[in-house]
Amino acid sequence: MRVFKFGGASVQDAEGIARVHRLLCTYGDGPLWIVVSAMGKTTNQLETLVQAVHRDQWPQAMEILGQLYEAHEARIVPLSSNLADQSRILGVLEQWISKLRADLERMRDERVPYNCLYDQIVVYGELISTALISAYFELQGFSHAWVDAGDLLVTDATWRDARIHWEETVSKVKACQESQCNISLRSSGTCVLTQGFLGQDAVSGLRTTLGREGSDFTASVLAYALDAQEVCVWKDVVGVMDADPRLFPMARILPSLTYREAVEMTYYGASVIHPRTIQPLQNKGIPLRVRSFLNPEQGGTVIGELKDQGHFSPCVIVKKNQCLLELVSKDFSFVGEEGLAMIYKALYDQGLKANLARHTAVSFSLCVDNDPYKRLPVQEILLTNFGIKVTEGLSLWTLMHQSDKMRSGLLSGKQILFEQHLGNVYQYVVVD
Ligand code: ADP
Ligand code: ASP
Ligand code: MG
Repeated sequence: MRVFKFGGASVQDAEGIARVHRLLCTYGDGPLWIVVSAMGKTTNQLETLVQAVHRDQWPQAMEILGQLYEAHEARIVPLSSNLADQSRILGVLEQWISKLRADLERMRDERVPYNCLYDQIVVYGELISTALISAYFELQGFSHAWVDAGDLLVTDATWRDARIHWEETVSKVKACQESQCNISLRSSGTCVLTQGFLGQDAVSGLRTTLGREGSDFTASVLAYALDAQEVCVWKDVVGVMDADPRLFPMARILPSLTYREAVEMTYYGASVIHPRTIQPLQNKGIPLRVRSFLNPEQGGTVIGELKDQGHFSPCVIVKKNQCLLELVSKDFSFVGEEGLAMIYKALYDQGLKANLARHTAVSFSLCVDNDPYKRLPVQEILLTNFGIKVTEGLSLWTLMHQSDKMRSGLLSGKQILFEQHLGNVYQYVVVD
């Protein structure tokens, strides 16, 4: 059993969707689960839709819905020159867009709170993407079963950052694998097509999401439940590199990484893999391969329980859109254990992570993602006990295993607001 994951970049247009089908025919033999994300930048578009509905801007919301329809239409029409086939896939799109519209109207009237509303709406990116791809696969005679990931991944109700209920999830995935979803058998094995990023709240049955870019994590959860022999995430890069090639064109591929190295890189923000992906795989010793859908012949990066080579590759990780919060206790009391507990509880409850933190006697500074829908509620809670200074427009640079010379070269000309280092990991909060 293997799990393949195709991200937004791999299915951003008709050419990409057809390529995914070809890759599956070439590399997808044997029992396979396929996890697919929303197409292209659909999730960003859906986020603007959620904001419009939340602000009661219905005409704007309907305009965005129209754009969503058109963007998907443009992706699927070129998939076939046969009009009957085109209208079959367009029919699927129309059904999903009508369902989304009905949900939007209902939730607007019910005034669903933002973070919950977000999860109910944003998941349509993955649902539409996999429904269209499933329709295309059917036309190609590629036998598979489309499964709603909400029926597999059971979570809590931490909207936008839901946590997995492992036991229920494992048993649902196993049951699905064994029989329940009536999986059709291909000559080479069993193939399931499902969505990344989404789950279902165990209590309310409402949809949840696993955090932006969470489809990698879905692949890893499924692999854990299935005791898969490998997970392969197909990306628009040759593999994991020593820096984001979009920011550093000279970046080089890292052909192999230990789980430990990968978990650290992703923890510090190497966005090529979702940070929660590694742990379930490490727990079961399942290797993760990061591979290029553009150059599948290249081996990519293998992450696994490799022999420690005794040296780490230097790498650079830049986390953009950061915000520095400087908290100072109002009555000049120490920020002791109680203060820290209060701060971390507020962060945990709102699903906001401290990407970097330091405390002194009466102050606590932390760098967080600048997401106002999570950050502002945290600030509101903490304002009772702390004065808060907020600085936006920042990036968090993490330089791992770099020499002094490399570090000063990389940071030259940058305005650094805050820095700290531990061992070979140097972190800098930099003004953009
Ligand atoms: P997906 O299509 O699966 O969502 P992503 O866009 O999330 O894929 O991840 C691939 C992107 O990650 C690349 O285009 C690249 O710009 C970025 N990236 C960031 N850090 C790294 C790194 N260290 N190595 C490779 N790619 C990186
Ligand atoms: N579509 C979601 C996102 O863009 C999840 C993913 O692609 O991994 O964040
Ligand atoms: Mg992505």
